[in-house]
Amino acid sequence: MSEKTEQELREDLARAGKILFERGLTNGAAGNMSVALPDGNFIVTPTGCSLGHLNIDELSKVDANGTLLSGKKPTKEVPFHIALYKVNPSVKAIIHLHSSYSTAYACLDGLDPMNAIKPMTPYLVMRLGKVIVTPYRKPGSALIADDISKVGAGNKAFLLANHGMVVGGKDMNDALNNAQELEESCKLYFLTKGSNIRYLTDADIKELL
Ligand SMILES: [Zn+2]
Repeated sequence: MSEKTEQELREDLARAGKILFERGLTNGAAGNMSVALPDGNFIVTPTGCSLGHLNIDELSKVDANGTLLSGKKPTKEVPFHIALYKVNPSVKAIIHLHSSYSTAYACLDGLDPMNAIKPMTPYLVMRLGKVIVTPYRKPGSALIADDISKVGAGNKAFLLANHGMVVGGKDMNDALNNAQELEESCKLYFLTKGSNIRYLTDADIKELL
């Protein structure tokens, strides 16, 4: 398969944003997305825009330091996107959402920061591995990038405490699927809360990996 062009990657990003918006996983101007370009730069969603109505020509292009090269002013969360690309080179696209169930889950106290969701179904394990929780930070804080740099190696699914989710994928479609898997996994937790759950055992998980 030949490498996608910048135009195709911009179109993939806008298409994924529209799907997230139509499925109710982002509302207003919340959340942001990015995709890695083959030349080492990144396409990022502009600040204050709706992910459902992205204009591909206005998307922000930034270099590996987050400096704007073209397009509108990027989201203030550019630093944590770049931090995740750096610490996990298998990640080529990133989605950050304030989707309801993931954000509700990210507000729970006492989560295991290195394995926040005990798996009930195989799909979370196969798609995302362990879900990592980073400490509460003010949105836009440079500390979020530091947190992801510290715990991101080998991981692609994160809950930012009291804020939302960050997921990576090997391309935008993979990131889109991963974001939906994390949201559904958090939803299952709330749907089954108070019920007697059979969680996957260590042997079940080993068999999957
Ligand atoms: Zn956010």
